[in-house]
Amino acid sequence: VARKTVWIGTNWKMNKGPSEALAAAEALKSYQPPESVKPFIIAPFTSLQVVAEKLKDSDVLVGAQNMHWEESGSWTGEISPGMIEECGADIVLIGHSERRQHFAETDWTVSRKMAAALRHGLKPLLCIGESLDEYDYGVTDETLARQLKIALHNVAVEDLPNILIAYEPVWAIGAGGRAADTDCVARVHTSLRQVLIEIAGVEIGGRVPLLYGGSVTQDNARSYVEQPNVDGVFVGRAGWNVPDFEKLIDRVI
Ligand code: PEP
Repeated sequence: VARKTVWIGTNWKMNKGPSEALAAAEALKSYQPPESVKPFIIAPFTSLQVVAEKLKDSDVLVGAQNMHWEESGSWTGEISPGMIEECGADIVLIGHSERRQHFAETDWTVSRKMAAALRHGLKPLLCIGESLDEYDYGVTDETLARQLKIALHNVAVEDLPNILIAYEPVWAIGAGGRAADTDCVARVHTSLRQVLIEIAGVEIGGRVPLLYGGSVTQDNARSYVEQPNVDGVFVGRAGWNVPDFEKLIDRVI
């Protein structure tokens, strides 16, 4: 698939402390992705700096998994945008469903984090997705449009070219999940594209990369990227092992 820039990233989640992460970064450093691919890894906070330093001049971008929206202050246990910037990260994940589900993140906090990331020159990777209940009730489109509109409420249209969006249905993520079928992903992404165009016009809204995530594997990754309005895939488990991640990328292109 040589027609477009394809974003392929993996979320390491709560895996790989500094030494394991450094070994993974060492292995990734010399990886040369196909020209159309932009690979990225999303590392836990304690590994962020070593990984970002190791991959500084490589083709692999590095991101954090979460961020607070304030600059500093009495927010025990939180990490500020400036701290992430100082670690050398390029990307920050905002609103991953595991944060929304288990750590009470809301559309309100997501919206503040989006604006804060952009103020610091970080590329936010906004995650949106409907729950199984919302899917069963047939309110997927409304749910995603609401999440997207609130997340982008504090973002200027001219900043939209600097963001990434991942559609990750909650029912498709993690060990108990099942991958969404490609027709469903194509339909949802087309509907998301319409919302983006409504917000920002065709020129800008038409270009924001839309990634699919949720039980993506080496076997099915390519079938998503072939769909209209799918500009990449965001994987968890299938990318934790570096050779597997590289194989997945090579099988998409
Ligand atoms: C994720 O959590 O973002 C994800 C896509 O996980 P997995 O690929 O393991 O389902």
